[in-house]
Amino acid sequence: MRALKLKMIAFLMAVAMTTMGFAQDTALPNVKILATGGTIAGSASSATSGSYSAGQVGIQTMINAVPGIKKIADVSGEQIANVGSQDMSVEIWLKLANRINELLASDDVDGIVITHGTDTQEETAYFLSLVVKSDKPVVTTGSMRSSTSISAEGPLNLYNAVAIAADSQSKGKGVMVSLNDQIHAARDVSKMNTTNVNSFQSPIKGMLGGVFYGRLGFFREPNTKFGNSSKFSIEGIEKLPRVDIIYAYADMSPDLIDMHVKAGAKGIVIAGVGNGNMTDAILKAAKKAYEEHGVIVVRSTRAATGWVLRDNEFKDDDYHTVASGDLNPAKARILLMLALSNGEKLSEMQNLFDTY
Ligand code: ASP
Repeated sequence: MRALKLKMIAFLMAVAMTTMGFAQDTALPNVKILATGGTIAGSASSATSGSYSAGQVGIQTMINAVPGIKKIADVSGEQIANVGSQDMSVEIWLKLANRINELLASDDVDGIVITHGTDTQEETAYFLSLVVKSDKPVVTTGSMRSSTSISAEGPLNLYNAVAIAADSQSKGKGVMVSLNDQIHAARDVSKMNTTNVNSFQSPIKGMLGGVFYGRLGFFREPNTKFGNSSKFSIEGIEKLPRVDIIYAYADMSPDLIDMHVKAGAKGIVIAGVGNGNMTDAILKAAKKAYEEHGVIVVRSTRAATGWVLRDNEFKDDDYHTVASGDLNPAKARILLMLALSNGEKLSEMQNLFDTY
């Protein structure tokens, strides 16, 4: 009898709290973690060895390794892939992006975290920023030290990423990349160091915000098109056109361009010297590639940071080339792939590189 009375009281209290809005206030945001592998899921035979295998640990084990994560969000995991991100592919990008669009369309999901290797994390993040159609937060994270390493930073990075994805301040900021207490815009961030935990930086525009044990703040807004304002969509797309990157250097041979065109490239990004420069012979080969095969050549740079400006040392129109602005070669490739897939013509290309 007493037990029944207590149950009745509990029930009435729950009804009253729901009516007054208390129950909603205490509900945690729902954050879905999509795992793709990387060093954050890597393991080694020794805690003090730099050699390890990436993409070994499953998502549930990773979640269990993060103390307090369930207090900041209602988290659940899903394994999309388990690869070192050097093996990231267009196929996985499309799978990931379609799944994110599907999840974010549901009222049950408030934000997404993606665990990912660091090598190509900036590429995946930029790709997603152009094709994910939602204002809800999407955050990628990873780690430079494997999960079995001494001072592994993966669990704190994952905790912070979940906190960012769960926070309403993060809405409308596009895809973000968070490692080492920093929040970066997908478009602006680059892996700048091969081994250091402070590898991820946005050398031109600076970071978007900071996060400290889950407490976060933003310093600026991203200023290019992404998400709902992006014209690119992957609906119904199963493949993207081939776009290759050629690294420029002194005295490079012009037949490199012909080789890529013959291999089937529909676009080429040159990681040029300095301000997107290349030998005169390569420029002439680029012009020929467009005139004879419709292959569009974008000028980016092999320099770690800086702008590639249109009409700098020659007129781009004379060679049908496009200047990448501050998009590094890997990201310029992604934009060119999406633009070509969307049927964009050369006449529209510079505008896309200036605004995306
Ligand atoms: N090769 C690894 C990867 O990108 C490196 C890392 O995650 O830090 O998956």
